[in-house]
Amino acid sequence: MVPAPLILVADDDADIRLLVSTRLEKAGYRVVAAENGDEALRLAAEHDPDLLVIDVSMPVLNGHELCLAITADNPNPPPVIFLSGRTLPKDRILGLEAGAVDYMTKPFDAHELIARVAVALRTGRRIATLTHHASVDRMTGLLNRAQLDDRLADAVARAVHVGTNLGCVLLDLDHFKAVNDRYGHLTGDDVLREVASRLRRNLRTSDPVFRYGGEEFFVLVEGGDQTGTTFIAEKLLAAIASEPIAGIDMTASAGVALWLPGYSEPAELLEAADAALYEAKRAGRARVAVTEPTSRATAAAN
Ligand code: GH3
Ligand code: MG
Ligand code: MG
Repeated sequence: MVPAPLILVADDDADIRLLVSTRLEKAGYRVVAAENGDEALRLAAEHDPDLLVIDVSMPVLNGHELCLAITADNPNPPPVIFLSGRTLPKDRILGLEAGAVDYMTKPFDAHELIARVAVALRTGRRIATLTHHASVDRMTGLLNRAQLDDRLADAVARAVHVGTNLGCVLLDLDHFKAVNDRYGHLTGDDVLREVASRLRRNLRTSDPVFRYGGEEFFVLVEGGDQTGTTFIAEKLLAAIASEPIAGIDMTASAGVALWLPGYSEPAELLEAADAALYEAKRAGRARVAVTEPTSRATAAAN
Protein backbone atom coordinates (compact mmCIF):
# COMPACT_ATOMS: atom_id res chain seq x y z
CA MET A 1 0.00 0.00 0.00
CA VAL A 2 1.24 3.50 -0.81
CA PRO A 3 1.91 5.39 2.44
CA ALA A 4 -0.04 8.61 3.06
CA PRO A 5 1.72 11.82 1.96
CA LEU A 6 4.16 13.16 4.56
CA ILE A 7 3.76 16.79 5.60
CA LEU A 8 6.36 18.80 7.48
CA VAL A 9 4.85 21.39 9.81
CA ALA A 10 7.10 24.16 11.15
CA ASP A 11 5.92 26.72 13.71
CA ASP A 12 7.57 28.09 16.85
CA ASP A 13 4.15 28.36 18.55
CA ALA A 14 3.56 24.98 20.22
CA ASP A 15 -0.26 25.37 20.22
CA ILE A 16 -0.43 26.11 16.49
CA ARG A 17 2.03 23.30 15.76
CA LEU A 18 -0.14 20.83 17.64
CA LEU A 19 -3.38 22.13 16.13
CA VAL A 20 -2.11 21.99 12.54
CA SER A 21 -0.48 18.59 13.05
CA THR A 22 -3.62 17.11 14.60
CA ARG A 23 -5.87 18.42 11.83
CA LEU A 24 -3.57 17.08 9.13
CA GLU A 25 -3.32 13.68 10.83
CA LYS A 26 -7.11 13.52 11.15
CA ALA A 27 -7.28 14.17 7.41
CA GLY A 28 -5.11 11.07 6.92
CA TYR A 29 -1.66 12.59 6.38
CA ARG A 30 1.57 11.64 8.12
CA VAL A 31 3.16 14.60 9.92
CA VAL A 32 6.57 15.57 11.24
CA ALA A 33 6.78 18.83 13.18
CA ALA A 34 9.62 21.31 13.79
CA GLU A 35 9.77 24.26 16.19
CA ASN A 36 12.10 26.43 14.10
CA GLY A 37 13.35 26.81 10.53
CA ASP A 38 16.67 25.16 11.22
CA GLU A 39 15.10 22.04 12.66
CA ALA A 40 12.65 22.02 9.73
CA LEU A 41 15.50 22.07 7.22
CA ARG A 42 17.18 19.16 8.98
CA LEU A 43 13.93 17.16 9.13
CA ALA A 44 13.22 17.93 5.46
CA ALA A 45 16.61 16.49 4.48
CA GLU A 46 15.96 13.44 6.63
CA HIS A 47 12.31 12.71 5.70
CA ASP A 48 11.93 14.13 2.17
CA PRO A 49 8.38 15.44 2.83
CA ASP A 50 5.74 15.72 0.09
CA LEU A 51 4.69 19.18 1.30
CA LEU A 52 5.56 21.79 3.95
CA VAL A 53 3.20 23.98 6.00
CA ILE A 54 5.38 26.64 7.62
CA ASP A 55 5.24 29.81 9.68
CA VAL A 56 7.04 33.00 8.59
CA SER A 57 8.36 34.35 11.90
CA MET A 58 10.47 31.64 13.47
CA PRO A 59 13.80 31.72 15.32
CA VAL A 60 17.17 30.57 13.95
CA LEU A 61 16.02 30.36 10.33
CA ASN A 62 12.82 32.19 9.41
CA GLY A 63 10.14 30.88 7.07
CA HIS A 64 11.36 32.81 4.03
CA GLU A 65 14.91 31.53 4.46
CA LEU A 66 13.59 28.00 4.99
CA CYS A 67 11.40 28.23 1.88
CA LEU A 68 14.30 29.50 -0.23
CA ALA A 69 16.57 26.75 1.08
CA ILE A 70 13.97 24.12 0.20
CA THR A 71 12.99 25.40 -3.25
CA ALA A 72 16.04 27.18 -4.71
CA ASP A 73 18.29 25.05 -6.95
CA ASN A 74 15.88 22.13 -6.59
CA PRO A 75 14.33 21.21 -9.96
CA ASN A 76 11.60 19.26 -8.15
CA PRO A 77 10.97 20.87 -4.75
CA PRO A 78 8.06 19.86 -2.49
CA PRO A 79 5.31 22.51 -2.42
CA VAL A 80 5.49 24.98 0.48
CA ILE A 81 2.41 26.62 2.04
CA PHE A 82 2.89 29.55 4.40
CA LEU A 83 0.61 29.78 7.43
CA SER A 84 1.39 33.13 8.96
CA GLY A 85 0.10 35.82 11.32
CA ARG A 86 1.34 38.43 8.85
CA THR A 87 -1.67 39.40 6.79
CA LEU A 88 -0.59 42.33 4.59
CA PRO A 89 -0.48 41.90 0.81
CA LYS A 90 3.26 42.62 0.87
CA ASP A 91 3.76 39.70 3.29
CA ARG A 92 1.81 37.39 1.00
CA ILE A 93 3.87 38.59 -1.96
CA LEU A 94 7.16 38.02 -0.10
CA GLY A 95 6.06 34.49 0.76
CA LEU A 96 5.14 33.62 -2.81
CA GLU A 97 8.36 35.19 -4.09
CA ALA A 98 10.33 33.00 -1.67
CA GLY A 99 9.00 30.01 -3.62
CA ALA A 100 5.77 29.08 -1.79
CA VAL A 101 2.77 27.83 -3.79
CA ASP A 102 0.22 29.26 -1.35
CA TYR A 103 -0.12 31.65 1.60
CA MET A 104 -2.73 31.39 4.37
CA THR A 105 -3.14 33.69 7.36
CA LYS A 106 -3.88 33.03 11.04
CA PRO A 107 -6.42 32.58 12.49
CA PHE A 108 -7.11 29.90 9.89
CA ASP A 109 -10.02 27.69 8.97
CA ALA A 110 -8.89 24.06 9.31
CA HIS A 111 -11.12 22.84 6.47
CA GLU A 112 -9.66 25.45 4.15
CA LEU A 113 -6.12 24.43 5.14
CA ILE A 114 -6.89 20.77 4.39
CA ALA A 115 -8.41 21.75 1.02
CA ARG A 116 -5.37 23.86 0.08
CA VAL A 117 -3.00 21.09 1.16
CA ALA A 118 -4.89 18.67 -1.10
CA VAL A 119 -4.63 21.06 -4.05
CA ALA A 120 -0.89 21.60 -3.56
CA LEU A 121 -0.26 17.84 -3.28
CA ARG A 122 -2.34 17.14 -6.39
CA THR A 123 -0.43 19.72 -8.42
CA GLY A 124 2.87 18.43 -7.04
CA ARG A 125 2.00 14.87 -8.09
CA ARG A 126 1.05 16.00 -11.60
CA ILE A 127 4.32 17.88 -12.01
CA ALA A 128 6.28 14.87 -10.75
CA THR A 129 4.48 12.60 -13.25
CA LEU A 130 5.08 14.98 -16.15
CA THR A 131 8.73 15.43 -15.19
CA HIS A 132 9.13 11.65 -15.12
CA HIS A 133 7.53 11.17 -18.55
CA ALA A 134 9.60 14.02 -19.99
CA SER A 135 12.88 12.44 -18.91
CA VAL A 136 12.43 8.67 -18.98
CA ASP A 137 12.03 6.35 -21.96
CA ARG A 138 8.74 4.58 -21.32
CA MET A 139 9.69 1.19 -22.71
CA THR A 140 13.08 0.65 -21.09
CA GLY A 141 12.86 2.97 -18.07
CA LEU A 142 16.21 4.48 -19.08
CA LEU A 143 16.82 8.21 -19.34
CA ASN A 144 15.70 9.53 -22.72
CA ARG A 145 17.38 11.48 -25.50
CA ALA A 146 16.31 14.88 -24.11
CA GLN A 147 18.02 14.04 -20.82
CA LEU A 148 21.12 13.01 -22.72
CA ASP A 149 21.27 16.38 -24.45
CA ASP A 150 20.89 18.23 -21.12
CA ARG A 151 23.33 16.12 -19.14
CA LEU A 152 25.89 15.95 -21.92
CA ALA A 153 25.87 19.75 -22.14
CA ASP A 154 26.44 19.98 -18.35
CA ALA A 155 29.20 17.37 -18.45
CA VAL A 156 30.91 19.13 -21.36
CA ALA A 157 30.76 22.44 -19.46
CA ARG A 158 32.50 20.76 -16.52
CA ALA A 159 35.07 19.14 -18.80
CA VAL A 160 35.83 22.51 -20.37
CA HIS A 161 35.90 24.62 -17.20
CA VAL A 162 37.27 22.17 -14.65
CA GLY A 163 39.34 20.11 -17.10
CA THR A 164 37.97 16.73 -15.97
CA ASN A 165 38.02 13.79 -18.37
CA LEU A 166 34.81 12.94 -20.17
CA GLY A 167 34.31 9.63 -21.92
CA CYS A 168 31.27 8.09 -23.57
CA VAL A 169 30.08 4.82 -25.03
CA LEU A 170 27.61 4.52 -27.92
CA LEU A 171 26.31 0.96 -28.02
CA ASP A 172 24.20 -0.58 -30.77
CA LEU A 173 22.70 -4.08 -30.87
CA ASP A 174 23.94 -6.22 -33.73
CA HIS A 175 21.48 -7.43 -36.38
CA PHE A 176 18.54 -6.38 -34.26
CA LYS A 177 16.28 -5.98 -37.27
CA ALA A 178 16.65 -9.73 -37.81
CA VAL A 179 15.34 -10.34 -34.27
CA ASN A 180 12.19 -8.38 -35.07
CA ASP A 181 11.83 -10.10 -38.44
CA ARG A 182 12.25 -13.57 -37.00
CA TYR A 183 10.60 -13.39 -33.55
CA GLY A 184 8.30 -10.38 -33.86
CA HIS A 185 8.36 -6.86 -32.45
CA LEU A 186 7.05 -7.84 -29.01
CA THR A 187 10.02 -10.15 -28.50
CA GLY A 188 12.22 -7.37 -29.87
CA ASP A 189 10.81 -5.09 -27.19
CA ASP A 190 11.53 -7.71 -24.50
CA VAL A 191 15.12 -7.85 -25.72
CA LEU A 192 15.47 -4.07 -25.51
CA ARG A 193 14.10 -4.05 -21.95
CA GLU A 194 16.46 -6.82 -20.83
CA VAL A 195 19.43 -5.12 -22.51
CA ALA A 196 18.54 -1.89 -20.67
CA SER A 197 18.37 -3.76 -17.38
CA ARG A 198 21.75 -5.47 -17.95
CA LEU A 199 23.34 -2.14 -18.86
CA ARG A 200 22.03 -0.51 -15.70
CA ARG A 201 23.09 -3.43 -13.51
CA ASN A 202 26.64 -3.23 -14.88
CA LEU A 203 27.11 0.50 -14.44
CA ARG A 204 27.77 2.65 -11.41
CA THR A 205 24.96 5.14 -10.70
CA SER A 206 27.48 7.89 -11.47
CA ASP A 207 27.64 6.68 -15.10
CA PRO A 208 24.15 7.39 -16.48
CA VAL A 209 22.82 5.30 -19.37
CA PHE A 210 20.36 6.67 -21.93
CA ARG A 211 18.25 5.19 -24.69
CA TYR A 212 19.78 7.05 -27.61
CA GLY A 213 17.50 5.70 -30.31
CA GLY A 214 15.73 2.45 -31.27
CA GLU A 215 18.36 -0.15 -30.33
CA GLU A 216 21.12 2.30 -29.47
CA PHE A 217 22.24 3.18 -25.98
CA PHE A 218 24.58 5.85 -24.69
CA VAL A 219 26.67 5.93 -21.51
CA LEU A 220 28.24 9.09 -20.14
CA VAL A 221 31.44 8.44 -18.17
CA GLU A 222 32.45 11.59 -16.32
CA GLY A 223 36.08 11.39 -15.26
CA GLY A 224 36.62 8.46 -17.61
CA ASP A 225 39.87 8.26 -19.59
CA GLN A 226 40.34 6.06 -22.65
CA THR A 227 41.35 2.96 -20.68
CA GLY A 228 38.54 3.29 -18.14
CA THR A 229 35.82 4.06 -20.68
CA THR A 230 36.94 1.23 -22.97
CA PHE A 231 36.87 -1.13 -20.00
CA ILE A 232 33.28 -0.12 -19.27
CA ALA A 233 32.30 -0.63 -22.92
CA GLU A 234 33.86 -4.13 -22.95
CA LYS A 235 32.04 -5.00 -19.73
CA LEU A 236 28.69 -3.90 -21.18
CA LEU A 237 29.16 -5.91 -24.38
CA ALA A 238 30.08 -8.94 -22.24
CA ALA A 239 26.93 -8.47 -20.13
CA ILE A 240 24.82 -8.59 -23.31
CA ALA A 241 26.61 -11.50 -24.97
CA SER A 242 27.15 -13.60 -21.81
CA GLU A 243 23.68 -15.16 -21.70
CA PRO A 244 20.89 -15.40 -24.29
CA ILE A 245 18.20 -12.74 -24.04
CA ALA A 246 14.62 -14.02 -24.41
CA GLY A 247 16.28 -17.21 -25.68
CA ILE A 248 18.18 -15.34 -28.40
CA ASP A 249 21.96 -15.01 -28.68
CA MET A 250 22.60 -11.30 -28.87
CA THR A 251 25.74 -9.25 -29.37
CA ALA A 252 26.35 -5.54 -29.49
CA SER A 253 28.99 -3.19 -30.88
CA ALA A 254 30.24 -0.06 -29.18
CA GLY A 255 32.05 3.13 -30.07
CA VAL A 256 34.12 4.84 -27.39
CA ALA A 257 34.99 8.52 -27.61
CA LEU A 258 36.69 11.01 -25.32
CA TRP A 259 36.15 14.74 -25.06
CA LEU A 260 39.20 16.36 -26.67
CA PRO A 261 40.57 19.87 -26.12
CA GLY A 262 39.98 20.72 -29.79
CA TYR A 263 36.24 20.12 -29.49
CA SER A 264 33.85 22.97 -28.88
CA GLU A 265 30.38 21.38 -29.19
CA PRO A 266 28.82 18.35 -27.43
CA ALA A 267 27.77 17.16 -30.91
CA GLU A 268 31.44 16.59 -31.75
CA LEU A 269 31.68 13.98 -29.00
CA LEU A 270 28.55 12.26 -30.33
CA GLU A 271 29.95 12.31 -33.85
CA ALA A 272 33.23 10.80 -32.64
CA ALA A 273 31.38 8.02 -30.80
CA ASP A 274 29.24 7.41 -33.89
CA ALA A 275 32.34 7.16 -36.07
CA ALA A 276 33.90 4.64 -33.66
CA LEU A 277 30.67 2.62 -33.59
CA TYR A 278 30.65 2.55 -37.38
CA GLU A 279 34.23 1.27 -37.28
CA ALA A 280 33.26 -1.49 -34.78
CA LYS A 281 30.44 -2.59 -37.09
CA ARG A 282 32.67 -2.47 -40.15
CA ALA A 283 35.36 -4.54 -38.44
CA GLY A 284 32.89 -7.38 -37.85
CA ARG A 285 30.57 -6.34 -34.93
CA ALA A 286 30.53 -7.68 -31.33
CA ARG A 287 33.48 -5.44 -30.48
CA VAL A 288 34.52 -2.06 -29.15
CA ALA A 289 36.25 0.57 -31.28
CA VAL A 290 37.83 3.74 -29.94
CA THR A 291 37.98 7.04 -31.83
CA GLU A 292 41.39 8.11 -32.86
CA PRO A 293 41.81 11.79 -32.00
CA THR A 294 41.35 13.83 -35.18
CA SER A 295 44.30 15.80 -36.45
CA ARG A 296 42.46 19.02 -35.60
CA ALA A 297 41.87 17.96 -31.98
CA THR A 298 45.42 16.64 -31.65
CA ALA A 299 46.81 19.85 -33.05
CA ALA A 300 44.80 21.89 -30.56
CA ALA A 301 45.99 19.68 -27.72
CA ASN A 302 49.64 20.19 -28.61
P1 GH3 B 1 23.41 -3.54 -37.23
O1 GH3 B 1 24.10 -4.75 -36.72
O2 GH3 B 1 24.10 -2.95 -38.43
O3 GH3 B 1 23.21 -2.52 -36.17
O4 GH3 B 1 22.00 -4.00 -37.75
P2 GH3 B 1 20.58 -3.78 -37.10
O5 GH3 B 1 19.61 -4.68 -37.73
O6 GH3 B 1 20.69 -3.87 -35.61
O7 GH3 B 1 20.33 -2.26 -37.41
P3 GH3 B 1 19.21 -1.53 -38.27
O8 GH3 B 1 19.48 -0.07 -38.04
O9 GH3 B 1 19.17 -2.03 -39.66
O10 GH3 B 1 17.86 -1.92 -37.59
C1 GH3 B 1 17.48 -1.48 -36.32
C2 GH3 B 1 16.15 -2.09 -36.02
O11 GH3 B 1 15.71 -1.73 -34.70
C3 GH3 B 1 15.08 -1.65 -36.96
C4 GH3 B 1 13.96 -1.20 -36.06
O12 GH3 B 1 12.72 -1.70 -36.50
C5 GH3 B 1 14.30 -1.77 -34.72
N1 GH3 B 1 13.75 -1.01 -33.62
C6 GH3 B 1 13.97 0.29 -33.32
N2 GH3 B 1 13.27 0.65 -32.21
C7 GH3 B 1 12.58 -0.47 -31.81
C8 GH3 B 1 11.68 -0.74 -30.74
O13 GH3 B 1 11.35 0.10 -29.90
N3 GH3 B 1 11.19 -2.01 -30.64
C9 GH3 B 1 11.53 -2.97 -31.53
N4 GH3 B 1 11.03 -4.19 -31.36
N5 GH3 B 1 12.37 -2.72 -32.56
C10 GH3 B 1 12.89 -1.51 -32.70
MG1 MG C 1 21.86 -2.36 -34.65
MG1 MG D 1 21.07 1.24 -34.89
